[in-house]
Amino acid sequence: MADQLDLSTIPVIDSHCHPFDPARDEGDFRLHFSLSMWEPLLELTTNTVFSFKAIRELGKFLGCTSKDFDDISKERDRQYRDDPKEYIQKLFRSVNLETLILDTGFPHEEFLGYSVDLDYFSKLVPCKIYPICRIEPIIYKIFKKFPKTFDEARDFFDNEIEKAVKVDKVIAFKSIIAYATGLEIKKWSDKEARDAYNRFIRKPLQDYTKIPPGPDEKILRDYFVVMTLLMCREHDIPMQFHTGMGGAPTLDLRKANPILMQDILAVDEIKETKVVLTHAGFPYCEETAMMTSCYPNLYCDVSAISNFMGTSMKSAMLKIFEFAPVNRVLFGTDGVIMPESYWIGVLQGVKGLEQALVELINEDWITENDAMKIAKLILNENAVKLYKLE
Ligand SMILES: [Zn+2]
Repeated sequence: MADQLDLSTIPVIDSHCHPFDPARDEGDFRLHFSLSMWEPLLELTTNTVFSFKAIRELGKFLGCTSKDFDDISKERDRQYRDDPKEYIQKLFRSVNLETLILDTGFPHEEFLGYSVDLDYFSKLVPCKIYPICRIEPIIYKIFKKFPKTFDEARDFFDNEIEKAVKVDKVIAFKSIIAYATGLEIKKWSDKEARDAYNRFIRKPLQDYTKIPPGPDEKILRDYFVVMTLLMCREHDIPMQFHTGMGGAPTLDLRKANPILMQDILAVDEIKETKVVLTHAGFPYCEETAMMTSCYPNLYCDVSAISNFMGTSMKSAMLKIFEFAPVNRVLFGTDGVIMPESYWIGVLQGVKGLEQALVELINEDWITENDAMKIAKLILNENAVKLYKLE
């Protein structure tokens, strides 16, 4: 009987996370252990099993003599704010985190009032970094200004995504359309999109983020997503989609099940684009895994499960292994805002992967050799190949 595998020598590629700025670290960092879009409450965020584990592990990492969570939190603030770079480097190196693939659309000045400069960020972390372009800030600019005609809006969008590929050298695109109008994306004709645009801009300007999106907004968002999928196909780069759980109540989980993408992924011009279902559609991991086994260009990553849903990582991996080809599964943390979220995501995420593989060895589905091969694919090699990393 195997009871553990040593995965610690595999350099980890975090295929979905975000840049952060230590200068913005204020307040109690444990407030960020939450997916709520409302003001988080410390009384809730410090009372989850995930939080207990994260703080206890952090106490060990910091060499804290006290076991008291408030003391550990204070010691963390002292060390991090004293020398952010040193703290980040130590934390990331301790889990062999080698590469970060960054969704630069969050934090973003259009949503949070600031973006993180990647040159600055690259000097803080002991990792190779690669940018991904999230398309929603571009769509937001269009919906804020409304160019006079649909053709101008479409040209603006087209120029921005082309610039992202050619100038910013992004290695992928990303959409969070699941948060806005849902994953049941359709391919609309130019005429349908033009008519929708003309109806949409005639309405009095209102805060569209506060009112539920109507059918015209859906047509336009679908249209821009399809434009991006086609751009990805042209340049042979992947497109990530937010799928599954996310910040409630903004995200309607019923519209975020990746199974809703069946039709769009089967469209002739689109089916050759490489698509990544991020967060493995959690809690719809079985659906995600089933789809990756049917669509040859479909991938999934376990970002956010490894982190916020730490206790679910082993069972999520086992569900994914029920169907998904192991060369279509990637690791990620969805680390954001604070360095601990990447660190605990790798620490617990790799542990969960290990536990799932050990169970499969013990039930004689795979050998120890197979397990090591699978771990290398998921933690490193699949991302190198899919995103064409050096
Ligand atoms: Zn993310």
